Amino acid sequence: MNEVIVSILGVAQDGGIPQAGCNCKRCLSAHENLDLRKFPVSCGVIGIDDSFHMIEVSRQLSEQLKLASDIFGPNFPVKPDSVIITHGHLGHIDGLGLFGKEVMGVNDVPLISSEKVINLLSKRGLVESFICREISPNTKIEPTPDCGFSVEFLKVPHRDEETDTHAIIIRGPKKSLLFLPDHDSWDETFRETGTKDIRDFLHKIRVDIALIDGTFWDENELKNRKMDKIPHPTISESLELLGKKRINDPEIYFIHLNHTNPANDETSIQRKKIDSMGWGVVLQGSIFSI
Ligand SMILES: [Zn+2]
Ligand SMILES: [Zn+2]
Repeated sequence: MNEVIVSILGVAQDGGIPQAGCNCKRCLSAHENLDLRKFPVSCGVIGIDDSFHMIEVSRQLSEQLKLASDIFGPNFPVKPDSVIITHGHLGHIDGLGLFGKEVMGVNDVPLISSEKVINLLSKRGLVESFICREISPNTKIEPTPDCGFSVEFLKVPHRDEETDTHAIIIRGPKKSLLFLPDHDSWDETFRETGTKDIRDFLHKIRVDIALIDGTFWDENELKNRKMDKIPHPTISESLELLGKKRINDPEIYFIHLNHTNPANDETSIQRKKIDSMGWGVVLQGSIFSI
């Protein structure tokens, strides 16, 4: 088939929901009702040759691969044909060890990321199961020869203590999808990409669907932790910058929601506001044909 399918295998911020050590209402309900669990962000991409590629590998890899086989059918190949990583923060990489001897025992999967991320992962002993392929910023690569799509790495600013951070554009035969789970601020991303607002940015990089950083709803969210130490543009700010969806706008969905974010709740006024403006919060288990 001449299409590539992107499946959403995780929608939460690195800590997932329920988050370790949290007794907030949302986390407690997710302990009681497993359907309310949200895994750390991850996409599973099926190429036109049925090859399977994962963007970000969290510690919930087992559940996320099961979710992929629920979506694509029981005979679906459970071992990814490639792994692609945006940056070195916890929830994006902490499942890489599961490919090793103690669990899956593979040793030949291509791992695609920037030079800095690959260096960091090797220092931590996380690349032994992989064949590493470095990609430079603003270039593209086909994860395997006949997959029928490319991934393009776009450098974005994000508290880069040890590594750099990239957004990923997946270009399929029909459409292009942006995966931008983490960045520090729109202003810095506009500066980095020479753009002036969100529409200009998405237009310049030519995407039809954008999954963008929706970590926090607004600045009041983290009562005990200083937001300036954990910078992300809030959903409120993004909505303000965007206004209502217009004809010919790309589809935009928020992803990477923290457990504290009220937009996690489908019945919240915050969620209704996002929907009423023509945007959305991406659902775990949903798919996009590109
Ligand atoms: Zn993250
Ligand atoms: Zn919580």
